[in-house]
Amino acid sequence: MADPVAERTCMECGGPMERGFIADHSYGGIVQSLWVAGGPDRGRFSKSIKVKRKRQFVVETFRCAYCGALRSYAPDA
Ligand SMILES: [Zn+2]
Repeated sequence: MADPVAERTCMECGGPMERGFIADHSYGGIVQSLWVAGGPDRGRFSKSIKVKRKRQFVVETFRCAYCGALRSYAPDA
């Protein structure tokens, strides 16, 4: 069975899209972006955003090989 995620086509030009992800820089190195439900919830004493109890999904971003358009998806794990 073919992986449906691997068969994306560009909505701009119809070209083939390559799977990847947006790399976010973190203190520990580079991490993959997450989509988190709801708005950012910042702690009272910290500038970091709390995401522990929220629904979150890893974001996959596809890039068109022809025109470079990007399109992101956050599928169910
Ligand atoms: Zn394209």
